[in-house]
Amino acid sequence: MKTGSDPSAVSIPHLRSLVRGRVIGPDDDGYDEARTLVYGGFDQRPAFIVRVADATDVASVIGVARETGLELAIRGGGHSNAGHSSTEGGIVLDLRDLKALEIDAEARTAWAETGLTAGEYTAAAAAHGLATGFGDAGSVGIGGIALGGGVGFLTRKHGLTIDSLLEAEVVTASGEILRVDEENHPDLFWAIRGGGGNFGVATRFRFRLHEVGTIVGGMLFLPATAEIVARFIEEAESAPEELTTIANVMPAPPMPLVPEEAHGKMIIMAMLAYAGDIEAGERAVAPFRALATPYADMVRPMSYPEMFLPDDDSYHPTAVARTMFVDGVDLGVAETIMEHLEASDAPVRVAQLRVLGGAMARVPADATAFAHRTSKIMVNVAAFYDGPEDKIVREAWVDGFAEALRQGDDGMYVNFLGDEGEEAVRRAYPGSTWDRLAEIKAGYDPTNLFRLNQNVPPADGA
Ligand SMILES: Cc1cc2nc3c(=O)[nH]c(=O)nc-3n(C[C@H](O)[C@H](O)[C@H](O)COP(=O)(O)OP(=O)(O)OC[C@H]3O[C@@H](n4cnc5c(N)ncnc54)[C@H](O)[C@@H]3O)c2cc1C
Repeated sequence: MKTGSDPSAVSIPHLRSLVRGRVIGPDDDGYDEARTLVYGGFDQRPAFIVRVADATDVASVIGVARETGLELAIRGGGHSNAGHSSTEGGIVLDLRDLKALEIDAEARTAWAETGLTAGEYTAAAAAHGLATGFGDAGSVGIGGIALGGGVGFLTRKHGLTIDSLLEAEVVTASGEILRVDEENHPDLFWAIRGGGGNFGVATRFRFRLHEVGTIVGGMLFLPATAEIVARFIEEAESAPEELTTIANVMPAPPMPLVPEEAHGKMIIMAMLAYAGDIEAGERAVAPFRALATPYADMVRPMSYPEMFLPDDDSYHPTAVARTMFVDGVDLGVAETIMEHLEASDAPVRVAQLRVLGGAMARVPADATAFAHRTSKIMVNVAAFYDGPEDKIVREAWVDGFAEALRQGDDGMYVNFLGDEGEEAVRRAYPGSTWDRLAEIKAGYDPTNLFRLNQNVPPADGA
């Protein structure tokens, strides 16, 4: 094997001899399918895609990247909106075949391999009346979401995904396979709870499971005015912490779930999830139903996995987005939201508001690398675009929108960042969090082998 960053430094037969898993090159069947990411607009052509079969394969692929200098992309669920899970001319280490899941229902823990999606894990755990919280989409990989933090339907009741992480198996840049928890490599355990893919490849996680049986949840479509948006947020903030809400303020898409009379009108497409007693759940969602006559009300007692909408693997939207935290959404802020949404003609445009707090906020800010524990509301603004020229227009719109909404909290959530540069990554890891991550990076990945991510470079001279 030659060294350098030239794909001819390593041959497919050689790679195949190194791993148990499948090596896919540009001439192989399934290459295009294997290199496709969830978001459209990315068209990288990796030299090799290795669908690893175990942690030893992971170590071998890391070894090849280390020795050849080829760029290494780590792919789990493929949802990176920065396109980080593929590479032009490098190696994709694809975890999607690592699907083992061992649930210990009595101990309420699960060992899960990181090729699982949130939906797959959630469905299997629900068979025991148990759950670990991930995000709002079943197709997201458990690896990417957990390493960044994990904000979802159970955040107020059970915290972030990382607050349920007990242990991980991580393959480092040197190829060591480490068991990482509070006692073993505690620095690394701190860093992987929010620090993303900077420190190694996580192959397995041990999660705490929570009792989550039937929930009161589902979608509520309300007409959106500034007043209704502000009152929705007020209700969400004062709701019991069993209730987590996600409010998508947007023009109603012409989809079957949305009644025809609402198509194109401003709506709140709300996702509500009350993880607790059914009657108390009905009481908790009543104030949201009373905000206005809903266009559609699908909130009902349901099994937790039903919160995830069905996935469409052929759907690859092109979108631009900005993420931030705000301290409050009063009438003035809600008016700004409505004005910006009304001023755009993007076919899909949205302001997503997630009221935080509860269990997530009780964890000290420096306990993990997710530092935004006291942030009140996460806001994501996004627009779909069609082609490069339209992208410029939509990008200007999301930038202006984000700027108009910005308040005192200038943090950002790493898992919703696009390719926005170091300044944005620093805002995801403010102050001492950045310094500590950079020190730990210098210890475990001094050459920045894992750099195709929201990158924290190793501290100088550490
Ligand atoms: C439709 C959609 C809905 C979303 N909803 C939510 C939500 O509700 N809450 C939320 O918190 N986030 C949400 N996200 C963001 C999501 O958490 C991130 O995009 C996450 O990185 C996706 O993980 P993945 O494994 O699917 O992606 P990938 O693109 O496969 O991975 C993204 C990056 O994560 C790193 N990575 C992934 N797996 C590993 C691993 N095992 N070891 C080391 N590094 C790894 C790599 O750096 C990789 O480039 C959503 C994203 C989308 C597209």
